[in-house]
Amino acid sequence: MTNHSRQAELRATLERAGLHDRRVLDAVEATRRDLFVPAELEDRAYDDSALPIGLGQTISQPYMVALMTQELALDGGELVLEIGTGSGYQAAILSKLCREVVTVERLPELAEKAQRALSKIGCANIEFCVGDGTLGWPARAPFDGIIVTAAAPKIPAPLLNQLKPGGRLVIPIGEDAIQTLVVVTRQEPQPTIRNVCGCRFVKLIGEAGWPPE
Ligand code: SAH
Repeated sequence: MTNHSRQAELRATLERAGLHDRRVLDAVEATRRDLFVPAELEDRAYDDSALPIGLGQTISQPYMVALMTQELALDGGELVLEIGTGSGYQAAILSKLCREVVTVERLPELAEKAQRALSKIGCANIEFCVGDGTLGWPARAPFDGIIVTAAAPKIPAPLLNQLKPGGRLVIPIGEDAIQTLVVVTRQEPQPTIRNVCGCRFVKLIGEAGWPPE
């Protein structure tokens, strides 16, 4: 099967699973996921599952990538912060749906690999940063939306503070096995918090996340 038809099939799988944002589905269909997985897992690149990418980390399940992106409700003009670059696949999807992506990864080796994969497909509107993303990225704040692709014990305060009024933070919250995907909207006097679904992510490690093991 060609990559093109595997991409179309993945889109159909996500549509059957209930995802409805056409722009997000178009972005998934237009993005080669095989470029973001290790060569030995290439034949599983279009499965709707998370896969290991080395250093104990994973590329997220396409359904979860699409769902989290849908929850950001992007219309094309936004500046979006991603915490947890990992393979770079989520950043590739975001880059097609907003004005600019700033993506932060704590492991330099993964950040470099992701940058190489993304330069192959020519995503020019992504800034790569290495550091502790639990502190956000103050130099580029405020953001229209923030997406965190690793699970935190609680909502990291610096991230909420770097959101524009009305902006959304999409983040998995919880322990190893029980996590909830939540959408936090910055509003006065109080942010609103909505639970979306159960999920399972690797740990967000940093000052406003989990301590290193
Ligand atoms: N979005 C990724 C999924 C990556 S898995 C993709 O599409 O492939 C989560 C990533 O978060 C891992 O690479 C991990 O190293 C990174 N991470 C964990 N804690 C972090 C922190 N405090 N700041 C930045 N990245 C972090």
